[in-house]
Amino acid sequence: MYIADLHIHSRFSRATSKDGDLPHLDWWARRKGIRMVGTGDFTHPAWRAELREQLVPAGEGVYTLRQDLRLPDVAPGEAPRFVIPGEISCIYKRHGRTRKGHNLILLPSLEAADELSARLEAIGNIHSDGRPILGLDSRDLLELTLDTCPDAEFIPAHIWTPHFSLFGAFSGFDTIGECFGDLTGHIHALETGLSSDPTMICRCSALDGYTLVSNSDAHSPSKLGREANLLDTGLSYRELARAIQTGEGFHGTIEFFPEEGKYHFDGHRNCGVCLSPVKAEAAGGVCPVCGKRLTTGVLHRVEQLADRPEGYVRPDARPCWRLWGRSSPFSGRCRWRTSGPRPGPAWRRASAACGPGRWSAGRALTGSTASSPC
Ligand SMILES: [Zn+2]
Ligand SMILES: [Zn+2]
Ligand SMILES: [Zn+2]
Repeated sequence: MYIADLHIHSRFSRATSKDGDLPHLDWWARRKGIRMVGTGDFTHPAWRAELREQLVPAGEGVYTLRQDLRLPDVAPGEAPRFVIPGEISCIYKRHGRTRKGHNLILLPSLEAADELSARLEAIGNIHSDGRPILGLDSRDLLELTLDTCPDAEFIPAHIWTPHFSLFGAFSGFDTIGECFGDLTGHIHALETGLSSDPTMICRCSALDGYTLVSNSDAHSPSKLGREANLLDTGLSYRELARAIQTGEGFHGTIEFFPEEGKYHFDGHRNCGVCLSPVKAEAAGGVCPVCGKRLTTGVLHRVEQLADRPEGYVRPDARPCWRLWGRSSPFSGRCRWRTSGPRPGPAWRRASAACGPGRWSAGRALTGSTASSPC
C-alpha cells in the first residue's frame, strides 16, 4: 500500500511558495512517507525544462529526483516517484452563463506533456502561470487531451468549490453530463477537494460510479499529503491510471476534516461571516454584515444536489482516514514552523522521531460512525 498525492503546484504557479521545486518536494514526500507525488504544472515551459533536467526515469511514466540533487537530512527509504500532472482553469460561456472549472490532467510521460502543451500554447497563455487560464470549454479540453494522449486521465478538480469547479455554485453545472456531454464516459474520477469528503459526495447517487480521489493541492511542499490517496498497485503510470479508472487497487483516501476547508459553510471571509446551510437560507442568502449575496459553501451545494439523506453510507464504501491538525502531523498549537524553505529544527527532530509515513496514519474511521467510510 502506498500514498499518492497527485495535485500540487510548483513555484511557477501564482501564490505559491518559492521552495516549490523538486528537491523540496522529494524531501517532504520522503519525510511524510508519500511514495507517489505529482509534479503539477506540466504546461509551464520553465517547470517542464526543470523536470527534464532534474528527473530520471524510474519505471513506466514515473520518475525520481536525480540523486545528486537530494537535500541534506533526507529521510531514509525508497525515493518517491514523480508522475506528470497539471491543472488547467477553463473559463468559458455555455448556455448563456459564464462557466469556470478547474481540471486535473494526469499524463503518462514528459513527452506527452510536451505534446499537449504545444497544442494548448496555440489556444492561450501557458507561460505566465503554472495553472494556466484558458478560454476553452472543459469538454473541448477533454477532447483535445484524449486526441493528443489517449492514455491521459482527466479529473475534474475540487468539484464543489464555489467559484472554479464542476459543481461550483456560481459557475458550475448540476450534472457531469451537462459539462462533458458526449465525452462524459471518459471521466472516471472526481477530486473531492479540501472542503468536502467522500461521505458528502456519496449523498449524490449520480456520482456512485466514480473513483473519489483526494489530493493536497499544495502550494508549498510542506503541505504535501494533507489529503491523499491510498493505493495498492505497482509504481507505474499505467497501474496508477488503471486504479483510478476502475477502482481496483484504489483503497481509499486520507482526508482533511472538511469543516476546516475554506469553503465548507456559506459565508463572506472579509465580513467574518460563516453560516450553516440552514442559517444561510434563514438569512435569505444575504450577508448580515454587508448585505451582498453570500458565497454558497460546499455543504450547501451538496444539499442542493443530493438525493440521499445525511449520514448515508454506500455499501461498497472505501475507507477514509482523517488527519489531525491542519497541515502538520502536530497540533496547530505547537509553534513549530512547517513551511518556508526548510522546516524548522524542532519539526525536523520531531518528525524524524516519528519516522516517515507514521503520521499519515491519523485516525482510521470505520464502521457506521458519523464520519463513516464512503
Ligand atoms: Zn484548482
Ligand atoms: Zn490546484
Ligand atoms: Zn459580507
